[in-house]
Amino acid sequence: MRIDPLEYLRPGTRGEALALLAEHGAEARVLGGGTDLVARMKLGIVSPKVAVDLGDIAELRGIREDAEGLTIGAGTPLHAVAQSPAVVSRYPSLATAAASVASFQIRNRGTLAGNVCLETMCWFYNQSRQWKKSRPLCHKAGGEPCHVVNQPSVCYATYRGDTAVALMALGAQAEVQSQGQERRLPLEELFTGEGKSPLALAATEMITAFRIPAPPVASGNAYRKVSHRQAVDYPQAGVAAAVVLAPGGGTCVAARIVLGAVGPCPVRAREAEALLQGQEITGEVLERAAQAAVAVARPVNNMTFGAPSYRRKMVRVLGLKALVAAVEQARQGHSQGDDR
Ligand SMILES: Cc1cc2nc3c(=O)[nH]c(=O)nc-3n(C[C@H](O)[C@H](O)[C@H](O)COP(=O)(O)OP(=O)(O)OC[C@H]3O[C@@H](n4cnc5c(N)ncnc54)[C@H](O)[C@@H]3O)c2cc1C
Repeated sequence: MRIDPLEYLRPGTRGEALALLAEHGAEARVLGGGTDLVARMKLGIVSPKVAVDLGDIAELRGIREDAEGLTIGAGTPLHAVAQSPAVVSRYPSLATAAASVASFQIRNRGTLAGNVCLETMCWFYNQSRQWKKSRPLCHKAGGEPCHVVNQPSVCYATYRGDTAVALMALGAQAEVQSQGQERRLPLEELFTGEGKSPLALAATEMITAFRIPAPPVASGNAYRKVSHRQAVDYPQAGVAAAVVLAPGGGTCVAARIVLGAVGPCPVRAREAEALLQGQEITGEVLERAAQAAVAVARPVNNMTFGAPSYRRKMVRVLGLKALVAAVEQARQGHSQGDDR
């Protein structure tokens, strides 16, 4: 196999990293823990000329909580996110999502930004160069056809990251920087919705942190996922729910439901959310919302395991489980006189 030469750079500060990205542009890739990028490089799926490893930049790691909410550095390892007392108690959806990624070793090395920026995947794309020689290159790999859906120039590769689904339901924003410029992107705007280039980031930009607003009083959130194996496996489907209840804990004031691994990006189920808003929460109402969420799932037949029909069914099951858990947490906070 041909190995493309790689220049490996390890800046010590955020400023140095941004300068390197400005200098190398599209030839460079940001390296977080490398658990996704290095695997893709080994298969020859991606061959950057330059890797900018953020591992030495201490200012990109850590979790801080203040009155406005939580700030998590982009380079914070997933295991630190999953075990943070603040995340576990107030943002359990994120703790569950982070704890469900791969294995302990990968969570120890993999970063929150690396997980959110996970490339979309497809059976026909995530293969070695040798394997891909057996048929015309697919659209994501630089060709025309899609081998999954009979539609040229469209890519249906699936986004299978766990934490972005929870972050989107929590209303999080990504802090994005390039040299001399800074912007904040709501998670919904970080994704293009397109399998070929899933992230709305320029080659010279990187994520430096995620900001999650403080959860309102009597609110709850939860994430549920299904995968082929119990552990070390990507989601076949994942659902995050976040709810806010009115005083008394009976009526839903606001809700967010986000689906993952059933399309090229995490997607909000807005009609399902609307079914909850202003409603007295009953099992039937939650069932209806979970069922309605299925309408925005767009799974295609591009995974080794997980037929589209199964994944659609699981959206309802996971959605109901996530909603029940979120409502339970919200009611507990309410009955304990939650003073957040
Ligand atoms: C066996 C196995 C099982 C896995 N199971 C799961 C799973 O269950 N769920 C899941 O979600 N993932 C899973 N993964 C994928 C991956 O390991 C994780 O998503 C991990 O969190 C990626 O983080 P990283 O820091 O290692 O990313 P990297 O590999 O370093 O980077 C991933 C991508 O993010 C970009 N990136 C990294 N940091 C930044 C930044 N600060 N700004 C902008 N772009 C950035 C990189 O350029 C690259 O394109 C699995 C991987 C393996 C090998």
